[in-house]
Amino acid sequence: MADILDTDIKFLSGVGAKRAELLNKELSIYTFEDLLFFFPFKHVDRTRFYSIREITAELPYIQVVGQITGIEAAGKGNKKRLVAYISDGTGIMELVWFKGLTWITRRVKPGKKFIVYGKPSIFGGKINLVHPELEEPEKKESTLRGTLQSFYTTTEKLKNNFVTSRVIHKLAGNLLQNVYGKIPETLPEYIVKECNLISLNDALLNIHFPQSQELLKKASFRLKFEELFYIQLNILKQKANRNTTVEGFAFSKVGDLVNQFYKNHLPFELTGAQKRVLREIRHDLGSGKQMNRLLQGDVGSGKTLVAIMSILIALDNGYQGCLMAPTEILAGQHFNTLKKILGNMPVTIELLTGSTKNSHRKEIHENLISGKLQILVGTHALIEESVRFNNLGLVVIDEQHRFGVAQRARMWNKNIKPPHILVMTATPIPRTLAMTVYGDLEVSVIDEMPPGRKPVKTVHYFDTKRERMFGFLREQIKKGRQVYIVYPLIKESEKMDYKDLEDGYNSIVRAFPPTGYVVSIVHGQMKPEDKEAGMKQFVNGQAHIMVATTVIEVGVDVPNASIMVIESAERFGLSQLHQLRGRVGRGAEQSWCILMSSYKLSKEAIQRLKTLVNTNDGFEIAEADLKLRGPGDIEGTMQSGFPFDLKISHIGRDSKILEYAREKVTKILDDDPLLEETKNSLLVKRLKELTKKEHDWSKIS
Ligand code: ADP
Ligand code: MG
Repeated sequence: MADILDTDIKFLSGVGAKRAELLNKELSIYTFEDLLFFFPFKHVDRTRFYSIREITAELPYIQVVGQITGIEAAGKGNKKRLVAYISDGTGIMELVWFKGLTWITRRVKPGKKFIVYGKPSIFGGKINLVHPELEEPEKKESTLRGTLQSFYTTTEKLKNNFVTSRVIHKLAGNLLQNVYGKIPETLPEYIVKECNLISLNDALLNIHFPQSQELLKKASFRLKFEELFYIQLNILKQKANRNTTVEGFAFSKVGDLVNQFYKNHLPFELTGAQKRVLREIRHDLGSGKQMNRLLQGDVGSGKTLVAIMSILIALDNGYQGCLMAPTEILAGQHFNTLKKILGNMPVTIELLTGSTKNSHRKEIHENLISGKLQILVGTHALIEESVRFNNLGLVVIDEQHRFGVAQRARMWNKNIKPPHILVMTATPIPRTLAMTVYGDLEVSVIDEMPPGRKPVKTVHYFDTKRERMFGFLREQIKKGRQVYIVYPLIKESEKMDYKDLEDGYNSIVRAFPPTGYVVSIVHGQMKPEDKEAGMKQFVNGQAHIMVATTVIEVGVDVPNASIMVIESAERFGLSQLHQLRGRVGRGAEQSWCILMSSYKLSKEAIQRLKTLVNTNDGFEIAEADLKLRGPGDIEGTMQSGFPFDLKISHIGRDSKILEYAREKVTKILDDDPLLEETKNSLLVKRLKELTKKEHDWSKIS
């Protein structure tokens, strides 16, 4: 945006050096533009005046006009306060202040008239307003005054320095008086017209100082539309670029390996969904364009087999394939699966992870370059510069949300043309979020489970039922089943969490003593060897119980394990709970997921646990999750391709606007894929401005 909006916030009247520093640090507001785009989180109607008689403590915010009838100091020490009485002829109400007393004494005098505004509360049986806003009716405080009052997020530190929501509002007013009418448009005129948008000037004025409900609505629509429009433009432009400029390898044939595998080594009949998805993949691989496909399928839906067959297609066409997983455990398990399933086939497979020994690593490197090695399975280690292929044709990335977008992009450079990319995820992503995060990928969905699975039964117990739960576990173990017991591990409180895990483990060992039971333990702080040993014990069926942190969340496959106990379940997110539950229900036996929690549950936690008990459908859960929390967490764990933060729109709630924006973007790019026309030059410029602070996402897969 043009110069004036780049002005340092400290030069705004009412700010100065000290406040500027606070605004920088606490709210990341550095320039005029930052403040203009720091939007209120809510608006409250201020056209209505109440009579004191009708006020109850249940009302959210009220506005009263009246006369001060008296003022007195009360309380001592911490409780020292000023109490003023205001009357409007229908009754008398108390106004209370605990801070800024000198200033209030100077300002609030008996006989004076005020408009007071605040949230009513009840104290000692009387209605009062604590720290109300005051305005003198005849003395307009700001020439800008909306009919709705805007509320802004502040922090403790800001409040302590008297930078309240109200102050921010005032600053926004000062700024708008200065710049209203001079703010350059950020969308081309033809889009503003076609989409019936109000101007950016009016949108910014009305989001901070709504002149009416109607205008507030229009302002909010314009700003949300613009935000989502640029998100979509960013992602779809990359796709358009790729389609017009990047060539891919054409895998023209389905050859010997695939046929041989299909005829002789397929361990089971493919499900209809697996077949359909394979057809979609085969079509992409043969098209001559680079494939960028997302394969979604709930836990246990059989994505691995799809990956294996896709890799065989690459091999049949003379290319190498690789399969990347986010953890060593998972990479190891994939490696074993591939070895087993492809055991009787003439293909070479190796595993490369951080703990691969140097001598072995060297051998792998050599065989990759020479082409002797055809399939490489591994972790992030595959991305390293030193890993070079002879002719890499397909990269499969499992559980991709653990991989950064930038890391994926590095796989592009492993061949002269970019290899085909298949991204597999078990995190069901609601449509709107998928459009945003994976907007540039084609999507395939496995929406059918392999036959013979019994849905997992889920129950919620409070901690007081622990003994009963243990009894149930003993019964199941007697029947030959195995049990996972998972403890939360949240980064911020890692130390405490590990203590909980340890205490938990000890109590489990007391309840399941070594005389009759084997309990193994696996968590992230163990040495890889120990972790491996703990896992093995459980995978081999030697251990009855595995106590673990969420390291087992992803991909681990032990069909005989049929019970998942999740401790402190209230501390997990919905998607994570669903992922954990997906570790059981893989065999033919009835499986159980037991959610343990304390009695102290937030409303949201209750909602989460209820959702999980009520449904096994991953998509339903993802939708519920998005509604409960917004996309924040999902985005976070996916390290998604958001080029900039969403300031006003909500991916879950604004899905209609999102689809509308996407439609517009699609049409624009259909007509002008590289945005070369003059009428679109503003789009290119604005997109650059919006994304300039961030990384280079131009090569996301
Ligand atoms: P995910 O999609 O979670 O990665 P997996 O690929 O690990 O699922 O498959 C889960 C289990 O289902 C594995 O034990 C696998 O062998 C089995 N499986 C996969 N496809 C089929 C099928 N078509 N019929 C029967 N079992 C299958
Ligand atoms: Mg898997």
